[in-house]
Amino acid sequence: MRRIYLDDARTTPVRPEVVQAMLPYFTDVFGNPSTIYACGQEAKGAIEEARSRVADLIGAGIDEIVFTSGGTEADNFAIKGVVHANESRGKHIITTPIEHHAVLETCHFLEENGCRVTYLPVDGNGLVDPAEVRRAIASDTVLISIMHANNEVGTIEPIAEIGKVAREAGVYFHTDAVQTAGHLPVNVDEMGVDLLSMSAHKLYGPKGIGALYIRKGTRLVTFMHGGEQERGRRASTENVPGIVGFGHAVALAGEEMSAEAERLTSLRNRLIDGLMEKIDHTRLNGHPTQRLPNNANVSIAYVEGESMCLNLDFDGICVSTGSACSSASTEPSHVMLALGMSPLEAHSSLRMSLGRWTTEEDIATVLEVLPRVVGKLRAMSPLLKNQ
Ligand SMILES: *Cc1c(COP(=O)(O)O)cnc(C)c1O
Repeated sequence: MRRIYLDDARTTPVRPEVVQAMLPYFTDVFGNPSTIYACGQEAKGAIEEARSRVADLIGAGIDEIVFTSGGTEADNFAIKGVVHANESRGKHIITTPIEHHAVLETCHFLEENGCRVTYLPVDGNGLVDPAEVRRAIASDTVLISIMHANNEVGTIEPIAEIGKVAREAGVYFHTDAVQTAGHLPVNVDEMGVDLLSMSAHKLYGPKGIGALYIRKGTRLVTFMHGGEQERGRRASTENVPGIVGFGHAVALAGEEMSAEAERLTSLRNRLIDGLMEKIDHTRLNGHPTQRLPNNANVSIAYVEGESMCLNLDFDGICVSTGSACSSASTEPSHVMLALGMSPLEAHSSLRMSLGRWTTEEDIATVLEVLPRVVGKLRAMSPLLKNQ
């Protein structure tokens, strides 16, 4: 049975070319990049080459990229770093209720420590209104953190418009671009952002490596103290193979981005249209057009997401549900609730996120298997249908 993996929003496999590029840095070129002998300097050179690839992808300067252990660290660093460095200006943060936990939990932590956080409402499609952002800005606002695209429902936020608002008000602007970097055009100047988070394992690179873009002149406190790595902004011996893999994955993603986005959009539309046609009481979650090319998120009434998830797994199909498929949590997704959905609707949602190995046959298989699974589950729970 061929496994059909439709969970790229959660993580992606590493491209074989990327693995090949990383391998020498585990064994031959293992030297510490802070040393002056050749095998250290060679590692240092590889890091700087990767840094320039990452910078190129997002239109940044080379010295504006700091490697981190992933998207979560980049989000923590951006938010805590700016808030702590600018306490004299105020302690107010503006964000949204649909951010990734890496942003939301950081904001909750800061709230417990004396910060004020405004969670802007989003509309039924998950969009933030830039006018609402402007209205929320107060004299003590130091940071706006709004994601580029949502990882669950795929909605793409009007970042450039929000960037203008932030610029006019002189407030730092951070965006979590983990779902878009390497998938859609990302340019820090066009978007008007001061800080931007990325993660390698969402773009066919390895886990445990990411980056934070920090615009030159941004005041930010370091929270990894130690050596002088990353120009003193993030101590610890660099994850050289990870950084090299990240750089390679980024270069490949940049080359293939537009063709791949087009291919995925067409496959995704076929999937969404097919599900709507074949399964009654199905609705699309997130914005109909302003959405990630690879994201299909639907609610299928009268069935539980988790049951669908487990049944699809029997057929080798990996998907996610709005209640964190078979993972620890059975709480309905905070994103679904913020979009105004009931807990029941959230529990009946399914997210399918396509990737570079998804084929037309895969989509055809899902369109055959999922309606059968839903039919079976609905027949088993007639009570649910009478609610
Ligand atoms: C996956 C993800 C993260 C976390 O990145 P890690 O590298 O796994 O820490 C943060 N934000 C978004 C939107 C994500 O999808």
